[in-house]
Amino acid sequence: MEDANKRAFKLKLLENTAEALKKNGFGTAVFENAPSAVKHILGLIGSGKKVGMGGSMTVQGLGLPEALQKAGNEIITHTPEMSPRERRQTWQRAQAADFYLASPQAVTAGGEMIFIDALGNRAASVVFGPGKVVLLAGINKIVRDLDEGLWRMRNVAAIANNIRLKRNNPCVKTGKCEDCATPERICNAVAMLWKKPRPTDYEVVLINEELGY
Ligand code: SF4
Repeated sequence: MEDANKRAFKLKLLENTAEALKKNGFGTAVFENAPSAVKHILGLIGSGKKVGMGGSMTVQGLGLPEALQKAGNEIITHTPEMSPRERRQTWQRAQAADFYLASPQAVTAGGEMIFIDALGNRAASVVFGPGKVVLLAGINKIVRDLDEGLWRMRNVAAIANNIRLKRNNPCVKTGKCEDCATPERICNAVAMLWKKPRPTDYEVVLINEELGY
């Protein structure tokens, strides 16, 4: 059982980060635990909507694809059996959906967010297109500043994803990003949200639990 003081400190860190995100124009919500965050997101989206998403471990770990589908929403995401043409069409549909769900690899104490992407579809969707972008981040994604965020993105998130995806890139052996040039490299596009782009609405959901990479 985590010490109550430590938990309260982490919650305060999330609340301070939410304030910084608000100053940068993003809508925010802070939750003590995953079930209350899931309830909030289900209420926000409701039913009968098109919901795009990429391969976020945070979104999947919270069971959101199944819960949103059960609530009567259409989930738009690619699957391994799709042809390249079907995948491209799915990514474009996801980018034009009512909602798009994703998770940044880092959220700075100053209210900025960083996303790393292999293919670019997710990076594009969190910057422009969907009716509303809902971004989820556990306490493990909070970093001091952009330098620490970029370090985390390459040396924590990308390596964990290489292992998950069974990519034999050099970082898996050395435990640090080697800025590889392999055909299997998964770090190809980075999106950074400094402040809210005017045409897109955002809800950044911060959760006092360790979630995703
Ligand atoms: S750039 Fe290459 S070595 Fe670095 S984290 Fe990405 S896949 Fe690994």
